[in-house]
Amino acid sequence: MLNKSQLAFDAKHIWHPYTSLVDPLPVYPVVSASGVHIKLKNGKELVDGMSSWWCAIHGYGHPILNKAVTDQLSKMSHMMFGGITHEPAVSLCQKLVEITPSGLDKIFLCDSGSVSVEVAIKMAFQYWHSLGNTKKKKLMTVRKGYHGDTFGAMAVCDPESGMHHMFHTMLSEHLFIDEPTSLFGEPLNDIDLKNLERAFEHNHTTIAACILEPIVQGAGGMRMYSSEYVKKAKELCLKYDVLLILDEIATGFGRTGKLFAADHAAISPDVMCLGKSLTGGMMTLAGTLCTEKVAHTICNGEAGVLMHGPTFMANPLACSVALASINLLETLDWQRNVDRIEHVLISELDDLKMHERVKDVRVLGAIGVVECHQSIDVAAIQHFFVEEGVWIRPFRNLIYLMPPYIMEKKDLKFLCQAIKKSLSISNNFMIQRDKHVI
Ligand SMILES: *Cc1c(COP(=O)(O)O)cnc(C)c1O
Repeated sequence: MLNKSQLAFDAKHIWHPYTSLVDPLPVYPVVSASGVHIKLKNGKELVDGMSSWWCAIHGYGHPILNKAVTDQLSKMSHMMFGGITHEPAVSLCQKLVEITPSGLDKIFLCDSGSVSVEVAIKMAFQYWHSLGNTKKKKLMTVRKGYHGDTFGAMAVCDPESGMHHMFHTMLSEHLFIDEPTSLFGEPLNDIDLKNLERAFEHNHTTIAACILEPIVQGAGGMRMYSSEYVKKAKELCLKYDVLLILDEIATGFGRTGKLFAADHAAISPDVMCLGKSLTGGMMTLAGTLCTEKVAHTICNGEAGVLMHGPTFMANPLACSVALASINLLETLDWQRNVDRIEHVLISELDDLKMHERVKDVRVLGAIGVVECHQSIDVAAIQHFFVEEGVWIRPFRNLIYLMPPYIMEKKDLKFLCQAIKKSLSISNNFMIQRDKHVI
């Protein structure tokens, strides 16, 4: 159990995500978690609205997932993947080939979402290199995106909210198109169509790949856009010979109401990134899938191999629990659960559209977003939420929910009530300055 001096050590010595060691924000000591509840050191139980950054889709401590880890632990916890293979990796990959959009049947297992994006970028570059095309060196993407914190991934994050300014001398320059404005459920509007067509038409000779978060842009602004946009991007990629990379790290495994967000557009990319909820939030694992054409072109090229191989790739514990999580998704009827959550979020949050502090309310699948007019003081609102018994962590001007799929109606309502209360009590949570707190 953490004591006072350990907490002081934490504040002084340990970096949390996007935090200062000079002016640290409060952190809440957690002792355990079970189902949809997080238990704090002071005994308080919080209803979890975050799924630990969108990962813990089955809640915490699910007995089937725990068993998958302990069963594997008794055999081996880690094993190098160079020159060795094992059942957990093979079974997981068989499952991934079966459930992902058609044609994605070659898999690279790595250790985090950002790395899976690096691998996807590397695949695209090696693909064109193998074909002897030395002009296709840039990526194309849309503004307001987020693809991770490593340098390759950072270079395709939104240039304003991302870290382009500070790191610009170290980042590759890519082509940014304005973010999609056609909303989810609506047809592709003329502005988006023209932006897309023009970008492809004018730049295709230098573009290796187009990278998108399909349907939902996550940490870049929680925006939900038309499936026809994704469809059109696929069509233009085919027309102009550009690879399509879909980053499904946040959207994969049912979060948007389809197993993969690409399914909303009924298309298949050349390369797809998976991560976050892949292991049901039990441990870190990610994957980059590609088509046979991409894989074989890379391997028939100069290098003869895909030039990547992290130490912890295909960790057996992570692979075992990932397979168990996907099987659990199917047996627990994820579709019914996500539809049920969507229904409750719509009915609970929709009237906030009228609230003077609220700019927009968006719900899709098990994602509920309340976009405010002003940025939010994260530390202050977090304190309020913890007092209310919920774990919700807003960023910028966005208060959002991504609950575990197992959450029942009463807990969903409880989360929504806490958001409503936070908007009604005082102005204290709304600030003008835009701090990088996530
Ligand atoms: C979280 C996220 C990443 C980065 O994954 P990490 O595991 O944090 O490295 C990349 N792309 C998207 C869409 C994400 O949501």
